Amino acid sequence: MPSSHVMNTYARLPVAFTHGQGTCLFDEAGKRYLDALAGIAVSTLGHNHPRLVEAISRQAGRVLHTSNLYRIPLQEELAARLANLSGMDEVFFCNSGLEANEAAIKLARFYGHKKKGVELPSIIVMEQAFHGRSLATLSATANRKAQAGFEPLVPGFVRVPYGDMDAVRQIASRSRDVVAVMLEVLQGEGGVNVVSDEYLRALRALCDEQGWLLMVDEVQCGTGRTGKWFGWKHADVRPDVMTLAKGLASGVPIGACLTSGRAAGLFQPGNHGCTFGGNPLACAAALATLDVIAEEGLMDNATRVGEAIRAGFRKALEGVAGVVDIRGRGLMIGIELDRPCGELVTRALDAGLLINVTSDNVVRLLPALIFSDSDAKTLVEGLAPLIREFLS
Ligand SMILES: *Cc1c(COP(=O)(O)O)cnc(C)c1O
Repeated sequence: MPSSHVMNTYARLPVAFTHGQGTCLFDEAGKRYLDALAGIAVSTLGHNHPRLVEAISRQAGRVLHTSNLYRIPLQEELAARLANLSGMDEVFFCNSGLEANEAAIKLARFYGHKKKGVELPSIIVMEQAFHGRSLATLSATANRKAQAGFEPLVPGFVRVPYGDMDAVRQIASRSRDVVAVMLEVLQGEGGVNVVSDEYLRALRALCDEQGWLLMVDEVQCGTGRTGKWFGWKHADVRPDVMTLAKGLASGVPIGACLTSGRAAGLFQPGNHGCTFGGNPLACAAALATLDVIAEEGLMDNATRVGEAIRAGFRKALEGVAGVVDIRGRGLMIGIELDRPCGELVTRALDAGLLINVTSDNVVRLLPALIFSDSDAKTLVEGLAPLIREFLS
């Protein structure tokens, strides 16, 4: 029975899962589904990974939560691990993507006031961007529908087309208030949109020239999903600020805002905080997730299986009218159609496949990094005919 007491913030599908195993979920009737969404890029290790279950259980038996009023050795260990993987300096821990981005936005303003003497600092953000649903992150987000009814939005954002370097240069030449550029290196909610490595390198160079912070939102594409630890590693441009969340602890809520170089060392006690942020349970789960990604070669798996999925769909949908593009990197995959295709989600559900549609007309696939070649085959063979049928 759907509960009328749960606030109506999601148009939920009429299915509930009782348990999962690897890349599969099972519903109350015992029906099995191949999970090509992983809770929107969250369940990095799939469901019930023994190493994750073990790490969480062990930590639960010791202590779940203490407080950031005390030292938390697991948090220190996770911060050191993330610093090591990214080459960045410091980490602020929180519980979600929007909180990580909120920290980044506050940090950029703080940087503007303290280091650049700017009175009304502003941040360049992108068309189709998604950064979260708090007031500041909603204002940074490009989706007008999500913003409607919540005005006044937070000021201090300037929007440019994604991937358009000239638009950013124009702002650089006329505005003295800009202090940062914030973007997803591979957009998720906005339709799985990819920008070139050259664009990211040009942005990095302009940020250095202008003394702006380059802030990358890796909430969806980070933690190994694109085949490297972080999406920006493909272009080899280290950001000044990076945010992580979704897949970082494979299902236990966590967020992180990392800083380096001129963005490091800004926040002091009293400037920012988070009660649950980086508690022992979340940090144990994140450390186990990072261990398994590294030890089981899951980034190479993401590269190989992601390419196999894209190649499989390109072949299966070759010449099909209405398929606009098949794109992505690693296990972040978009199939753009020429029309709204939300109903494909229920058709796939009936066929035992969990998928998502974003931006109205882009089928989005974000499977666990343990997705196998045979899972890829099952997915392509199950979904391609549904897309053909839908378009015919
Ligand atoms: C999901 C997402 C967010 C928001 O994360 P929440 O944990 O839902 O607050 C922010 N940025 C990107 C790129 C995302 O995909």
